[in-house]
Amino acid sequence: MFSRSITQCVRCGSEFKSTNNKDTCLNCRMLEEEEELEVASKLKLESKNILVATTPILDGYEIEEYLGVESGVGPSGGIFYEDFEESKNIAFEELKFKAAALGGNAVIGIDIDYIEIKSSLNTIVSGTVVKVRKINRVDTLSV
Ligand SMILES: [Zn+2]
Repeated sequence: MFSRSITQCVRCGSEFKSTNNKDTCLNCRMLEEEEELEVASKLKLESKNILVATTPILDGYEIEEYLGVESGVGPSGGIFYEDFEESKNIAFEELKFKAAALGGNAVIGIDIDYIEIKSSLNTIVSGTVVKVRKINRVDTLSV
């Protein structure tokens, strides 16, 4: 028995020989990969603007939506201070990227931890992803 069968692509509707239970044709799969890369680079840009804070609120902002708790893990820090800084920065980058992917613009209540994996320390940062809005201070002053 052949495992190959003719399948209809769920994306473009064209028929193709399915080799490993994929439901999109090769063309569409390539397009999907391109789109994923595009989305990833867009999120990478957006993540630069994500506000981060260890506090549960951001002064001057109000929380519109809670989007869930996320974490970022940095690689093993070496024995030097700079390595820990680097590890922490990477952990924050990952956390901010996840926040952007969730549609948030800030991460609050952030907790920084170090976990030991095979006798070296990794940085883990966790926080609550939120959508915040700047409070219009003019409004409150004119009352
Ligand atoms: Zn297709």
